[in-house]
Amino acid sequence: MTKSSRAAVFLDRDGTIIEDRGDLSQPSQVVLFPDTIPALKRLGESFDLFIVTNQSGVAKGTITMQDVALVNGHLTDQLAHYGIEFRAIYVCPHERKTGCACIKPNPFFMQKAARDFGIDLAHSFTIGDHPHDVIFAENAGATGIYVLTGHGIRHQNDLPQHTLVTSGIKEAVDQILRI
Ligand SMILES: [Mg+2]
Ligand SMILES: [Zn+2]
Repeated sequence: MTKSSRAAVFLDRDGTIIEDRGDLSQPSQVVLFPDTIPALKRLGESFDLFIVTNQSGVAKGTITMQDVALVNGHLTDQLAHYGIEFRAIYVCPHERKTGCACIKPNPFFMQKAARDFGIDLAHSFTIGDHPHDVIFAENAGATGIYVLTGHGIRHQNDLPQHTLVTSGIKEAVDQILRI
């Protein structure tokens, strides 16, 4: 897969690239997994990178959209130090019960990336620690990779059959670069 084909990897945030510590409102709460930086550096050499995150705490009032932006800005600044760049960070701030279009596993943000950045979804991937992250990929015609970090172990019995399950971000990236 070459960069010119514009395939992408859509990364979940909490439990996938940083520790899942609930609704984050401050940069100091961001804790990268030890493998995140080397893994994303390798991945970024071959794929466009996106973050797609459901942040229902915004709708519930426990955090604000400004909090989310501050945390995301801190995270991307940290990673930019290592040459890791994201094309976009997409946030769904809604609660599932409202039936919004953009919450994962709806393919909304992958389709937006296809329109806005010319991403080839059929050759793209998601990585995440919730079955919704895998179904998100399937709903967009992409491939989902599950990680057992974050909530991964707890929900692994709810995965679609034949899901590629990996122990964490490093192994997920190994799989993608091997496919
Ligand atoms: Mg997650
Ligand atoms: Zn939404």
